Amino acid sequence: PHLLIPREHRPGEARVAATPETVQRLTGKGLHITVEAGAGEPSGFFDQAYAAAGAQLRGPDPEVWEQVDGVLCVQPPQRERLDLLRPGALLVGLLAPYGADVLVGSLNRRQVSSLALELLPRTSRAQTMDVLSSQANIAGYKAVLLAAAALDRYVPMLMTAAGTIQPARTLILGAGVAGLQALATARRLGSVVYVSDVRPAAREQVESLGGRFVAPPELAETPAEVGGYAQAATEAFLEAQRSQLEEQLAQADMVICTAQVPGRPAPRLISEAMLDRMRPGSVVVDLAVGQGGNCACTVAGQTVLRNGVQLIGADALPSSVANHASALYARNVAALLEHLITLTAPPEDAGLPGGGAFPLNREDPIVAGCLLTHAGRCWRPDVVGLPA
Ligand code: NAD
Repeated sequence: PHLLIPREHRPGEARVAATPETVQRLTGKGLHITVEAGAGEPSGFFDQAYAAAGAQLRGPDPEVWEQVDGVLCVQPPQRERLDLLRPGALLVGLLAPYGADVLVGSLNRRQVSSLALELLPRTSRAQTMDVLSSQANIAGYKAVLLAAAALDRYVPMLMTAAGTIQPARTLILGAGVAGLQALATARRLGSVVYVSDVRPAAREQVESLGGRFVAPPELAETPAEVGGYAQAATEAFLEAQRSQLEEQLAQADMVICTAQVPGRPAPRLISEAMLDRMRPGSVVVDLAVGQGGNCACTVAGQTVLRNGVQLIGADALPSSVANHASALYARNVAALLEHLITLTAPPEDAGLPGGGAFPLNREDPIVAGCLLTHAGRCWRPDVVGLPA
């Protein structure tokens, strides 16, 4: 099969879906790779290195989209490009599947097959392909660096001739991949760190990284956990959480917001009244801003100064660490491709008509999880039907 690595077109997107390392890995498995010239430049991977790794380089020529069997991308390509793909071609990327009925409509009109990496199952088999984890890890790390750089205080405890400086206090909301990396990073900088999560299993992970766990309120409606993910909390539960966190927040220097529920608006854990009590000079970084935000008043891509508190709406942090974010993303995608080429074609009755260069066997749990469109049909209407 012949795959295209396009140059990402969304403003601010500096990542790329394959690196010279993964091109070499995939060509070694018999795949033919074309890289759009300059695709890796924003992340520090240059055309020469791709060519040396075995890729064919092409200018930004729309015709190539008509020729390939698949496209590996970070974000969904422009509609005009997708409309050039031939029936049975495969699109792999972070396709933002929640509420994606427009994208799904155009893929189905073209009979393009697509795998949305957000929907990969969180199993040990799929761990090497888990882009949500590799990118969330980067976001959690960078969020702490942004907060520390914006903070008007030292982070570590320091004993100087001018006296002792107490360590900064960090509050992290959500102990998923991003939250745990934020915890580890803040600890490395010498901060005292408190972490809140609704999943009881998070306590042990937080404590093993030197954080102090803020247990959720003990209420009957504590959100259940399904497949490792917290479910959405009721408004009454969130109200109890907010009053529990209010005092923590008033004492915090840095607050890193990572609490999310897949396919739902982010839980609103910080209200304006809570912000009123924060110390001027303190900083909030809201990683959930794209899902509506954990914190009131945060705006995606902007820093809002509110009564001396900096509210950073951080929606594109992985792209700001573009070299490593791409290196890891590309390895995740290569692992998925390697998995796909080992699959055998599904039996006739497996419900997946239509050919294509890869045997998209839905008996495989990885394919079943992230197969968004195939043969003119949407295979995850449960996700596409949710609000974006
Ligand atoms: P996420 O980005 O979806 O959410 C971040 C965190 O927010 C989660 O820990 C969630 O419990 C928490 N949260 C939700 N509502 C909250 C609220 N009201 N208050 C406080 N916290 C709240 O999470 P993620 O990083 O994708 O991780 C989700 C789960 O998946 C975790 O259990 C993680 O360990 C697991 N995981 C498993 C694998 C694997 O097995 N391969 C890989 C990655 C993650």
